[in-house]
Amino acid sequence: MNELKHDRQMKKKRILLIQPENREINAFRRRQFNNFAQITIPYLAAFIDETKYEITLKDEYNQAIPYHQTFDLAAITVNTPNAPHCYDIARRFRENGARVVMGGPHVSLLPEEAEQHCDYLLTGECEETWPLFLDHFYEETAMKRYDSASPPSLEHLPKPRWDLLKRRTRMMKAAVFATRGCPYHCRYCNLKQIYHDCFRTRPVEEVIDEIKAICSRFFVFWDDNFFANRTYALSLMNALKPVKKKWAAQVTLTDCRDENILKAAREAGCLYLFIGLESFFQSSLKDAGKEINQVDDYGKIIGQIHKHGLMIQAGIIFGFDSDMPDVFEKTLRKCEETGIDGATVSLLTPLPGTPLYAELKAANRLTTASWDKYNGKTQVVFEPRNMTTEQLLRGYMLFRRKFYSLRSFIRRMKVSHTSPVYNFVVNLGYWLAGR
Ligand code: SF4
Repeated sequence: MNELKHDRQMKKKRILLIQPENREINAFRRRQFNNFAQITIPYLAAFIDETKYEITLKDEYNQAIPYHQTFDLAAITVNTPNAPHCYDIARRFRENGARVVMGGPHVSLLPEEAEQHCDYLLTGECEETWPLFLDHFYEETAMKRYDSASPPSLEHLPKPRWDLLKRRTRMMKAAVFATRGCPYHCRYCNLKQIYHDCFRTRPVEEVIDEIKAICSRFFVFWDDNFFANRTYALSLMNALKPVKKKWAAQVTLTDCRDENILKAAREAGCLYLFIGLESFFQSSLKDAGKEINQVDDYGKIIGQIHKHGLMIQAGIIFGFDSDMPDVFEKTLRKCEETGIDGATVSLLTPLPGTPLYAELKAANRLTTASWDKYNGKTQVVFEPRNMTTEQLLRGYMLFRRKFYSLRSFIRRMKVSHTSPVYNFVVNLGYWLAGR
């Protein structure tokens, strides 16, 4: 009996799942208080048959990659700014005799590039291809490439294996997704190139079940547009009420015109909404292809969100062609006038596969091909139209410092009046991150 068990153990393959994070972004994220653990590798781990594989998870956010250990397979999820770092990780594991499989946004966008750095690659959505690949790898019949041919079902998905992710700090919230996709087509967004272009939802009871299993009292919905299907969102939030957890979600401003949805969100435990305002100027929103945002409505809708006790974490991007050198000061004033609670500020970044990338490349305005610079936080990777690269970078950094200064915080809170203590902690985290 023991021999049989030993035999079975011997047949297990050792798999390492890596959530990579390059040093520059890691330094930036670690200083913030409101971080959340990335769902990708706990989710991928949930599909793995433990009778065949011995699983190790490493999130480079706060864990070292075990280069000294031996694995049969290293699986790496690749986004664009991490791509060179991922290729380096892959090289080191391959030199040690492991096989490497890659997936994720960058692999889906540029498979021909990625395949030069790995043994196997998976493009697009992974619910069907990943388990198939794992079976093939175990049987040693794996093919080089697996593409997601059609939208996979989002029913009966396994629960992410958060239990395998060691060293999660209390401040790191968990994540869950309820929907996939977005009906809009912003020019800088790569969602349409990564996912099948159709909006889908998961069964409400399965999402609730997963949320109940999360140890933390806080979690975030990892969805790109949580309110996109109003009926579904209302039904999910209604079922969420008795669970009594606190959460945040990414939504569009236009869906927040509906006071019923805001009321339902608050009653279901929502603390804040991440809303991609992107700009306070209609001409820049036209550049972004995001005319679902109408700046004339900002004040009214933001006031409505605050009235329902919800905070707003605004996504703001600088660098659109219509942005002039005074865009930073003007944006700060608008944020203070409307009482924006927090801001995730980024430099416009033309990610490969997007209409924005194609346009800037055709106009010969891309200034680098080094993907690690495409992080939206520390580098300008194209020639801006109405200011210099230095003006854009300096203006963006100054905006971040001023926005998170005590003076601006007080001005914004005088308008927002929403969760001042929580708001103070989050703002402090961003202030520290921006130093
Ligand atoms: S609304 Fe958000 S998720 Fe949808 S296309 Fe625009 S940027 Fe992408």
